[in-house]
Amino acid sequence: MEVCNEFDDIYSWNLLLWKQLKEFVVKKRVPQAIIINGQNGLGKTALANKFAALLLCHDLVKGNACGYCASCCLIRQGSHIDLSYISAEEGSNIIKIEQIRGLSEKLTKSAAVGKRKVAIIDGADTMQDKAANSLLKTLEEPSDNTIIILITTNIAKVPATIKSRCSYVPVTTPLFEQVSSFMSNNTDAPDADIRLAYHFSMQAPLTTLDVLNNDRFKNIIGTVKSCYLSKDVRATELIGLLKSDSLTEIIKASYLIIYELISFKVFGVSYAGPIFSSYDNVDSLIGNVDIYELYEIYDYHNELYSEISMGTVWQPNTMLVSLGCVWNKFFKGGVC
Ligand SMILES: [Zn+2]
Repeated sequence: MEVCNEFDDIYSWNLLLWKQLKEFVVKKRVPQAIIINGQNGLGKTALANKFAALLLCHDLVKGNACGYCASCCLIRQGSHIDLSYISAEEGSNIIKIEQIRGLSEKLTKSAAVGKRKVAIIDGADTMQDKAANSLLKTLEEPSDNTIIILITTNIAKVPATIKSRCSYVPVTTPLFEQVSSFMSNNTDAPDADIRLAYHFSMQAPLTTLDVLNNDRFKNIIGTVKSCYLSKDVRATELIGLLKSDSLTEIIKASYLIIYELISFKVFGVSYAGPIFSSYDNVDSLIGNVDIYELYEIYDYHNELYSEISMGTVWQPNTMLVSLGCVWNKFFKGGVC
């Protein structure tokens, strides 16, 4: 029989998780619901899609979806009636209660094509409270042979009552060594640029490829760097970046800069990093700052990051004024 279409490969850094998901099916212990959590750019959706295909396939081949049964073909055509997919609607950044109600109703019906029904809720951490409560009811009274896959970037935003009913699949960031061949197969960028983009992307390989496709990230890093190298760090210059770049990107750039300065402090001025060059006179910048102070600033960046990722509401301007202050205090001997 002709193969309808092969499914996308699982990204190499997710192979262990994929094995874990396959075991659920092979051992016939598929949970009623799972949460696939991790930051953007790690291939969570590909993992969820491939798992859905595995759950719905009529004729597994060596533990994989066959690619040619009716179910596999319908998935490829995007028209499998037993597979539902919901995410925030266009122009909205939340999943609404009406969407969850519609899904729950669909899940009460019997499977039309095969043995199971599968629902993927992409961005389940963006559900409104009412939507989350509605989903909870569905999880509390599950229909037969129904599996719900929740994809999240911030597990902390998912109510504990929902989490307790799901198996947890954490997608973590890989080491650079684990993705170097993936990178060299997918971009011609020089190694130093790839490493810088990889760290700028918080070690998310797919985001790294996006970042490498435009030079904007280099401009952000360059602007923040020149701001920090100037005599007096003016927060207005940092705030000016907000016109074209996001707060997260500016903090990331600042984080990479401080990370490289720590490397200079540890390895000496002969250290060759991707951001500073010998023309930048790094020694004059960090000469009077000791390593513990550098780590203190590094920790401060981590705090800002976790606040942003936890969704703490900061005025971007206030955060950048605070960052400029910290920088002035340590590097320029100013007060904050
Ligand atoms: Zn199949």
